[in-house]
Amino acid sequence: MDKVMVVTGGSRGIGASIARYAGRAGYKVCVNYREQAGQAAEVVAAIEAEGGRAQAFQADVSLETDVVHLFAKVDETFGPVTALANNAGIMQVALVEDMTAEDLNRLWATNITSAFLCAREAVRRMARKHGGGGGAIVNLSSIAGKKGGRGQRVHYAASKGALNTMTIGLATEVAGEGIRVNAVLPGLIDTDMHGPWGGKKRIETIGPTIPLGRAGVPDDVGAAVVWLMSDDASFITGELLEVGGGS
Ligand code: NAP
Repeated sequence: MDKVMVVTGGSRGIGASIARYAGRAGYKVCVNYREQAGQAAEVVAAIEAEGGRAQAFQADVSLETDVVHLFAKVDETFGPVTALANNAGIMQVALVEDMTAEDLNRLWATNITSAFLCAREAVRRMARKHGGGGGAIVNLSSIAGKKGGRGQRVHYAASKGALNTMTIGLATEVAGEGIRVNAVLPGLIDTDMHGPWGGKKRIETIGPTIPLGRAGVPDDVGAAVVWLMSDDASFITGELLEVGGGS
């Protein structure tokens, strides 16, 4: 069976790195994006330039209809998914006293509902009871999910806490179906995600306070995610792996 990986939010940052590592590891890579078609096309071109196979797929993974359509298109293009990186996510900095229901619901939908919907579609294809050959799911959580978000973004941290719980619970639910489920918990990683919330200044200020002395780069995380998907990690499931330079 071909190795097929879906990377949600694969057009930029950590997702783009996961996609490139996946291409090198021999996966047919489905680079999902919401808006940045050009950047997704660049990731596909980079994978192909290294001899890999990839295609870009537009879908807003917070929407059920888009998720169903995405996995159906992947079936048609490369065959059933064997590895899923639930990476798409948004961050907001806000105090609880200023939060609105609209902001909260958007955050839950993008960071939590999307992961459940994509996992559902993946399990329907990977599970032995459905004729699948097993597989691996990695959720992109955050150290904030354990620590609460530096007193600045409890809602974002809570969404990642939910992913940690989902990782442990789903790992138990589908272990007998040959599916492993793990989470990678990045610390501070230098990506566009920090743009509206202090951007480079935030990276430069917090980076030196991290025990290893710097903020992470997307490849620090991409390598860990694709390793967790690999046969080298075949006895690891329900694990929450921090990639945070000791923070
Ligand atoms: P990023 O640079 O802002 O990229 C986010 C990606 O998610 C983009 O590809 C974006 O696609 C996609 N996306 C957002 N909403 C989407 C939706 N509804 N449907 C489909 N795609 C969507 O973020 P990042 O820093 O790489 O973060 C990736 C993951 O790691 C996130 O889950 C984040 O919470 C987590 N994380 C990041 C850090 C960090 O310090 N950077 C730390 C801990 C955890 P478009 O550009 O096409 O819209």
